[in-house]
Amino acid sequence: RAKDAGRNTLRFFDPDMQQAVNRRALLETELHNGLRRAQFLLLYQPQVDSQGRVTGAEALVRWQHPVQGMVPPSEFIPLAEESGLILPLGQWVMETALRQQARWQQDPLFAHLSLAINVSARQFLQDDFVAQVLALVRQTGANPAQIKLELTESLLLDNVDSVISTMRALKAHGLGFSLDDFGTGYSSLSYLKRLPLDQIKIDQGFVRDVLLDASDAAIARSIIALAGSLGLSVIAEGVETTAHHQFLLAHGCQAFQGYLFGRPLTLEDFESRVRQGE
Ligand code: C2E
Ligand code: MG
Ligand code: MG
Ligand code: MG
Repeated sequence: RAKDAGRNTLRFFDPDMQQAVNRRALLETELHNGLRRAQFLLLYQPQVDSQGRVTGAEALVRWQHPVQGMVPPSEFIPLAEESGLILPLGQWVMETALRQQARWQQDPLFAHLSLAINVSARQFLQDDFVAQVLALVRQTGANPAQIKLELTESLLLDNVDSVISTMRALKAHGLGFSLDDFGTGYSSLSYLKRLPLDQIKIDQGFVRDVLLDASDAAIARSIIALAGSLGLSVIAEGVETTAHHQFLLAHGCQAFQGYLFGRPLTLEDFESRVRQGE
């Protein structure tokens, strides 16, 4: 009987599942090609202060596949991490973002902007990560003081000491660090105290239901307070409504990112957004 065949066998013949497996295999091969053929681009999502003024952006990678269309990072970043392609991809992101920051430096309208760059654990844990980043900073002429590297708690699963020394080495050259998706990982508060961070990002999962769910509200408030007592800045991500914004503002959050203030934008759209001064 079909039931006795076992889950795996049944799953294997599930056409949706098979399609997902095919797509995955296809994407993995195509990632290689995509990198060589310049199919990746960066979008820039505004980050704003308590007045709604744009203070910077987070660079978010997109894959413009000629056949599959726009592939979201949720699909290809995990694949890139498993296959190791995250290393060349991450380097491309780093170089492109630093080059952009260097261009902004030359223009009084954009010179104040900070740029946040996502770094995956595997990329960060490379032996020569510090050397790579510093070489790119030098080559591009970016201002390291206006660069923030976004790390996630998954980095802390092992080797906290080497993470800390890599962070220190980059901080000595002026780069800053933000802990992304805070509250969704496994890091303990003692790690948080030891890491030389500049900023914590409240995960959008807590922001989403901040007005509906009392525990999400309590968590968001606690993260804001925690950041304050550790001397870190705090930014909320996933801010979609004025109600979200008001709640977070009322509880002391001063920096925001989310659809309310702007979606991830092409460079051109981001720059015209900054020009409008809104
Ligand atoms: P993340 O770093 O936490 O980035 C925030 C994600 O939330 C982005 O998704 C952004 O488009 C989305 N977002 C921003 N505001 C809102 C909002 O108001 N509502 C909702 N529902 N979503 C919002 P995106 O661009 O799809 O990126 C997903 C994840 O992929 C990122 O999460 C990050 O972990 C990873 N990623 C993106 N670019 C890079 C990259 O260059 N390198 C690495 N290693 N990872 C990246
Ligand atoms: Mg991020
Ligand atoms: Mg995040
Ligand atoms: Mg996230």
